[in-house]
Amino acid sequence: MTDEMTEIDTVVVGAGQAGIAMSEHLSRLGIEHLLLEKNRVAEAWRSGRWDSLVANGPAWHDRFPGREFDIDPDGFAGKEQIADYLEAYARQFNAPIRSGVEVKRVTRNVGRSGFTVETSQGALLAQRVVSATGPFQKPVIPAIAPKTEGLYQIHSAHYYNPEQLPDGAVLVVGAGSSGVQIADELLRAGKQVYLSVGPHDRPPRAYRNRDFCWWLGVLGLWDTEAMKPGREHVTIAVSGARGGHTVDFRRLAQAGMTLVGLTERFEDSKVTFKPDLAENLDQGDQNYLALLDAADAYVDRNGLDLPLEPAARERVADAPCIAQPLRELDLAAAGVKSIIWATGYAADYSWLQVDTFNEGGKPSHQRGVGKEPGIFFVGLPWLSRRGSAFIWGVWHDARHVAEQIAIQRKYQQYRRKDEADEFASAVTPLNQARA
Ligand SMILES: Cc1cc2nc3c(=O)[nH]c(=O)nc-3n(C[C@H](O)[C@H](O)[C@H](O)COP(=O)(O)OP(=O)(O)OC[C@H]3O[C@@H](n4cnc5c(N)ncnc54)[C@H](O)[C@@H]3O)c2cc1C
Repeated sequence: MTDEMTEIDTVVVGAGQAGIAMSEHLSRLGIEHLLLEKNRVAEAWRSGRWDSLVANGPAWHDRFPGREFDIDPDGFAGKEQIADYLEAYARQFNAPIRSGVEVKRVTRNVGRSGFTVETSQGALLAQRVVSATGPFQKPVIPAIAPKTEGLYQIHSAHYYNPEQLPDGAVLVVGAGSSGVQIADELLRAGKQVYLSVGPHDRPPRAYRNRDFCWWLGVLGLWDTEAMKPGREHVTIAVSGARGGHTVDFRRLAQAGMTLVGLTERFEDSKVTFKPDLAENLDQGDQNYLALLDAADAYVDRNGLDLPLEPAARERVADAPCIAQPLRELDLAAAGVKSIIWATGYAADYSWLQVDTFNEGGKPSHQRGVGKEPGIFFVGLPWLSRRGSAFIWGVWHDARHVAEQIAIQRKYQQYRRKDEADEFASAVTPLNQARA
């Protein structure tokens, strides 16, 4: 980029899956655009995931429509395979990506249309800006985290493998897909693991010979438009690790993991847990069983020939940590030397200095079309539906947003016939002069 103010129709910020999907649809519609990525293409999948992470959904499902993975379609792609896939996808249609360019500030122009986009490599002008900076931007460690010296504490975004941790027991706080998979990996590596379990959904990995991604598809649940009120803090515990298996907390407890309720507070070397473990596990079971019931009803209704699976309804006996849950743990006495905070992420829109946020600081938009004309979002959780933040879901949202951009361009380009004739006669002599 030069110091001159380059003008471009649409700037897309971020070249993860959301930015790449956006670019594909803009390209199809012939809309001039540029993707600016501060790191590398698909950086989150390269450096923001632990070493053994695989996709939560099978390869036939967790992908864009225009390309298949080069692995068994019922298998689960590893994080590097996903990053390679996204890179190859972007190459496939020559996505105009500039890597290593950070967007520092976007402001609305005064006295002319569009926005000024200030980057680490100079400024440019854009009629439109699409934020594709990801749903999981800043790892969040809650304020209750203890200040204890010598206690190794990291967010799940900075966990890579068991060898990274000091010897000794570990407390994993948070039991969504990240927390439960990391806790399982640490248990298998021979560590003593405490897992703090909050409210969660836990769909079966597969049931009656079909993956849960398929069930959510045929049951129309990926298309649910809004999260149920009060369920904002409910995570989904699902895993594609080791070929894929259902997350069953009671089995993990049988295997030696100590489950505890929500982590409440730390004082000196003591941590206190809420007395909600049994309730959280019961609600997770209810969510699991509800999907089995819905699947059975679907099979009956449609006369499908899918094998019965009664074993899926068997419940293992409660281990002592569930029957008599710990309310308090002395970390020093228990030999806990590390804490992994699998406690989610926050957004960072400090670079987007336009009027398109609600009072809570969240993007204000309708299916990705920002409140501020010319600003768009893709990749946000629940942007249009449950599938919105996932690889395959973002592609469909990006198509809608690209179509909205095309519509806005039409309005912007409109001239009354007499104005258009006037314009043409003003520029024709110039063109002829050049020719
Ligand atoms: C642990 C984990 C596992 C997941 N597993 C799955 C899964 O199996 N299947 C699935 O479908 N989904 C999964 N997801 C959800 C989702 O698919 C990923 O989070 C995915 O990375 C989101 O893609 P994105 O393009 O929206 O954002 P990102 O991949 O985060 O991409 C955003 C890009 O924007 C860049 N950027 C940010 N700010 C700027 C700036 N100011 N200037 C320039 N560039 C900028 C970043 O460098 C980044 O490359 C998972 C998420 C997590 C956290």
